[in-house]
Amino acid sequence: MQASDIHVIPKRRFAAIQARVDQRLFTLEEMPLKQSERLISHFKYLAGMDIGERRRPQNGSIHHYLPINGNIHLRLSTLPSAYNEALAIRFLPQDDLNTYTNLSIFPGSIKNIFKLLSKPQGLLLFAGPTGSGKTTLLYSLLKESQHQLKRQIITLEDPIEKRMDSLLQIEINEPAGVTYLDGFKSILRHDPDVIMIGEIRDDATAHLAIRASLTGHLVLSTLHAKDTIGCLFRLLEFGLKLEDLKQTLLGIVSQRLCEIECPYCGSDCSLYCILRRKNRRMGIYETLQGELLKETMASIEKRESNFKRFPQLDDYHIRAMAMGYTPLRPFGVKKAIGYEKA
Ligand SMILES: [Zn+2]
Repeated sequence: MQASDIHVIPKRRFAAIQARVDQRLFTLEEMPLKQSERLISHFKYLAGMDIGERRRPQNGSIHHYLPINGNIHLRLSTLPSAYNEALAIRFLPQDDLNTYTNLSIFPGSIKNIFKLLSKPQGLLLFAGPTGSGKTTLLYSLLKESQHQLKRQIITLEDPIEKRMDSLLQIEINEPAGVTYLDGFKSILRHDPDVIMIGEIRDDATAHLAIRASLTGHLVLSTLHAKDTIGCLFRLLEFGLKLEDLKQTLLGIVSQRLCEIECPYCGSDCSLYCILRRKNRRMGIYETLQGELLKETMASIEKRESNFKRFPQLDDYHIRAMAMGYTPLRPFGVKKAIGYEKA
């Protein structure tokens, strides 16, 4: 089903087993509470949690291999609820079979992004809200850059979302004293071509990204921002100077996932419909780079509010609707674009 999560939710008389598919929640089954308690205990045991503890929330993980899907990392968390313990399981597929060219409705945008990836140094950012597919894109690009360009890649992540054998991945653990800065200092000795910093989320990580790209590396990172221009302002909020950005920034990519028109029913799919469809969402990408990026930064410097027009997410979305790839719904309306976390 390509579900992203499974939930076991105890109610008064039974427990509901629900799956989240494309951000929509489907009830798969209802089972007696006794049975769901045993099920939850079993998973707690597998994930290395304390089975006797039911009043405190707990986290754990399981690694699993499925013949069709490959390696899957399961992140489990329990939550004491009014009736009983609830369990949520997040699926993190480790072997993504989607190559980067299959991610985009418009293949040209991905080719364009890949060109930026072939630069020897600088900063390349991926902006978007949670669930916009930026992590998937980033990993596919890293994989492709290693395959095609034979790059040595080291990642600094908190936590590691996808374990990939071909990459050297370092997990940041601030409580244990492994900070982004420590990680960065130690990876320099391994002489990487590309450094991926999981997420720029504060002043420290923002400055680190600039520093890494000034020392002759290609640095890739993600950032929570509405669009490419929003990303620029966010970087300035983190205390970066426009001068630093002018020297390092190669481009910003912003993205959303669009629902693909269903070939069977054409509208809101039932669970059975969803099971029969492989490609249900694809990305649209807005890229700010080259001359346009320079001009936009110059406008910000002069405190002008009118930026030069360039094809933005709205434009790509309208084009996708006009070509019949995606249902005719206003941009951002529920189910049209799946970036809102329920
Ligand atoms: Zn359908």
